[in-house]
Amino acid sequence: MALTRASHTRDDYSGAAPSDIRQRNRTAVLRAIYPNVWCSRAELSRITGMSKVSTSDVVAELIQDGLVTEGGYQNSPKPGKPALLVGFNARSMNVASVDISEADGMRGIVTDLAGNVLERDQEPIVEHMPLRTTQVVEFCERLVSRAHAPVLGVAVATPGTVDEREGVVLAAPNLGWADVELAALLRNRLGLEATVANDADCALFAERCFAQGSENMMLVQVAKGLGAAMLIGGNVVQGTDHAAGEIGHVVVDDDGPQCVCGKRGCLETLVSTPVLERRIAQEPDHRDDVVADAGAILGRALAMPVAMSNISEVIVAGPEEVVDDEMARAVRDTINDMVRSRFIGAVNVRRSQLGADAAALGAVAFVMRDQLRIL
Ligand SMILES: [Zn+2]
Repeated sequence: MALTRASHTRDDYSGAAPSDIRQRNRTAVLRAIYPNVWCSRAELSRITGMSKVSTSDVVAELIQDGLVTEGGYQNSPKPGKPALLVGFNARSMNVASVDISEADGMRGIVTDLAGNVLERDQEPIVEHMPLRTTQVVEFCERLVSRAHAPVLGVAVATPGTVDEREGVVLAAPNLGWADVELAALLRNRLGLEATVANDADCALFAERCFAQGSENMMLVQVAKGLGAAMLIGGNVVQGTDHAAGEIGHVVVDDDGPQCVCGKRGCLETLVSTPVLERRIAQEPDHRDDVVADAGAILGRALAMPVAMSNISEVIVAGPEEVVDDEMARAVRDTINDMVRSRFIGAVNVRRSQLGADAAALGAVAFVMRDQLRIL
């Protein structure tokens, strides 16, 4: 699996507590070698700006933890003993991750630290409203029991608004949830670190970490409704109400269809899976036109936030029946026609490449960001 390496920045350590310095040194070494760079301790010292002694100490500690492994010797024209190389040991730990955003059931994966899927599981959701938290916790527990190595943490990708720092699902009407402290429940029951995040945020972060996404990108998810997520400078934008990306109920057509929210012409009354499926069923001979029209509406809606944040990449995700290359092309053409100027370069618009695993993989990446700070 291809991974995007986090860019390394040298930190100012003045005034930091010893434990902070130790943590930062560990992070600096891990970032330098993640996911598959092999180098000598001397090279690591140069890359990280740490002294050779500190570098050797940190590497020794990481080898003891299993996160770093030794292997091979450096080819060097210089005489003397060749340097031993060290690299990241992705198989040293696993992450268990569950996506509960799909109506038909929970999808679970167990991965190594490079995002390679080692185990999969699925479970239908019974008593959908409200979804029982114990069902989610027990499913996570089952996944953890199938791990091949010690588990770094568990993660859940959920629909709705989420306080991702606290791991609280604030509102997920599709699950019948409000203020559910899911991360705390998982921590208490499993004794493991837990991360809970919005499914669109997860899908976005997965594109960034596992599909070479830009550090300034946006993801739009066409589903029963319409949601989006945004990454600026490599960080997922949460917003004041943890609701960044909730663009489905923004009015884009004053004379548009009545929406369930009480307004008229919300974006998701024009672009969502049920709406597009219905229109395609009504006009089967004009399928491509229906999809392209929806792409143009979406492109118009996204043009302003794309220019506002100088976004360079937009991912369109959703079921293949409606989110196809035709739609991506219409979104791309519309956005570029509207935002192109002497200041703003071409915006790349593409479909998601990670398929049904996207949200669960993104949740894995969040665990690695939170626990190892390498993504
Ligand atoms: Zn609405």
